[in-house]
Amino acid sequence: MKKPSDEPDELLAIEQLASPSPSQQRMDVLYMQQALQLAHQAGKLGEVPVGSVVIRDGELLGTGMNRCVMNHDPSAHAEVLALREAGARAGSCRLDGATLYVTLEPCLMCCGALLQARIARLVFGAREPGTGGVVSIHEALRLPRVNHHVAISEGVRANDSKALLREFFQSLR
Ligand code: ZN
Repeated sequence: MKKPSDEPDELLAIEQLASPSPSQQRMDVLYMQQALQLAHQAGKLGEVPVGSVVIRDGELLGTGMNRCVMNHDPSAHAEVLALREAGARAGSCRLDGATLYVTLEPCLMCCGALLQARIARLVFGAREPGTGGVVSIHEALRLPRVNHHVAISEGVRANDSKALLREFFQSLR
C-alpha cells in the first residue's frame, strides 16, 4: 500500500497539466542516469548516495555528489556542489534557463540555492519524507512571496534512487 506521502498533492496535479513532452521525458531519464551514477559513487565513498547534474541547452554545466562527510561541510550537498560548478563554468551566479537534476528531493537549503541561481526547472527522483523541502516537509519553491517560478518534475528513476539509499543504510547496520 502506498503511504500518504507518496500521493501527489494538488499542486503537483496542476504541475502535471504542463508535463514535459515525451522527448523531454526521455532526456530527463538520461540525465537522471548521470545523477544516479554520481549518487552511486558517493555511496561507495561512505556518503549518503545523492547525485546531481545541471544542464542548460543540452550542455552539462555542473555535477555534484554529496560530500558532507569527506569535506567536513554540512552544506556540501550534491545540488550545492553542482550549482557551484555550473556557476563557475557559466561565469555567472545566475543560471537562467538551466535544469537541475537530483536523485533525491532537495532540502530547504538546496531549495534556497536553486532560487538564488534562478534555476528554471527542477527534476528530482525520490521524495525525502524527513527533510524534503519541495513537497514533503515544506513547499519552499512555492512560497507565496517567492517571485521566481521553478517548474518541478518528480519521480524520475525514483525506484533506483530509493534502492541506492536502502542499500547504503542497510550496509551501515
Ligand atoms: Zn540539500
